[in-house]
Amino acid sequence: MRTTALIPLIFLTITSSAEAGKASYQNYPTTPPETFFQGTCDSDTDGTKFAEKVCYTTFKNPGESVFAPDYRPPTCDKSRQLTPEQKSVLAKAYSRAPDYMKGKLCRLTQVFVTRSRSWGPMGWGLWQGPDRLPDSKSVYIAISDRQLTGKQSFVDVENQTIRDLLRAEYPGRGKGLVQLKMGAAPDPELAVLAELAHELGHVLVADANMDGNSRYHPRRKVSGPPKNACFETAFVQASWDEKRYNKRLRRWVDFGEQYGNRTKNPDLKFSLERLRRDVRRGNVEAANRLIKNVYSSNEFVSVASTINTQEDAVEVFKYKVLGDAMGNQKPGFDVDGRSFNVFDALNSGVLQKKVQCLSDFGFLSGQP
Ligand SMILES: [Zn+2]
Repeated sequence: MRTTALIPLIFLTITSSAEAGKASYQNYPTTPPETFFQGTCDSDTDGTKFAEKVCYTTFKNPGESVFAPDYRPPTCDKSRQLTPEQKSVLAKAYSRAPDYMKGKLCRLTQVFVTRSRSWGPMGWGLWQGPDRLPDSKSVYIAISDRQLTGKQSFVDVENQTIRDLLRAEYPGRGKGLVQLKMGAAPDPELAVLAELAHELGHVLVADANMDGNSRYHPRRKVSGPPKNACFETAFVQASWDEKRYNKRLRRWVDFGEQYGNRTKNPDLKFSLERLRRDVRRGNVEAANRLIKNVYSSNEFVSVASTINTQEDAVEVFKYKVLGDAMGNQKPGFDVDGRSFNVFDALNSGVLQKKVQCLSDFGFLSGQP
């Protein structure tokens, strides 16, 4: 009798002391989150002001980072400066961005550059909420300096991403993989713009708690319910296996991790592990079928977008940004002799609804 009474008592003591240690913010907020993209922006037509503020950081993968009270925010690494060439391509990328994207980029707390690694993940986006740092309202993105050489075009980067996803980056591996081609090589700053848009997309998803409809989503502890439920309809219900998606609700996604997600479309359903194994053994047939099916689907914009639901939303944002940046000259991809224009595909069907959802969340508005 006495022992049983003691157990709940100990349990209660531990709980209350743990609560006293944190909770400088409201747990499980009930109203939609207010955006961290606040303040005003200076006029910066040629992007030099934007580029001047970008710095190197030694901050590692935020997905492995701790929470309050031990968390330390990312900082500039003063021992390493950006070269004039790196600043120049960043400035050009900013100047090519559509106004709504400029309005987001200039409101970021800081943009970082990371040292290249031999293969992805290369960049990251971080929404730094009060669970990391009391009263924090900071938003960061980082891109790898490998992207800032100014030599790669956007289509080169898309091919590279496919190889990275398939772990086909080692010499001699991935022979025979379908290569995307483009008639006219787009300007290199568009490749940088694409990377910035991808990482910014991840931060926007977090900022709006876009995928946090379920009260069981782990981020609902810190961010209130999303102001619109369209992530569920336009993305999850339209294109994904809902049961699998709901089993592994999460916010931080590492590059090339499916987290059990599968598309609804049977032509695009795959296990990345199995594809990698086949590629390792020299069999690129299934990978090539996937690449071709992605482009004929009119449902997904890239191979990267078929990895999980968040990458789907983020890649749609990236392609919307790139399409708007290119105006009337939107080149299509040549995929194994067939031509596809992903940018045009954004204007109809499932993809149009996905774009509309980004718009409903304010991702396509330059205002806070
Ligand atoms: Zn991503």
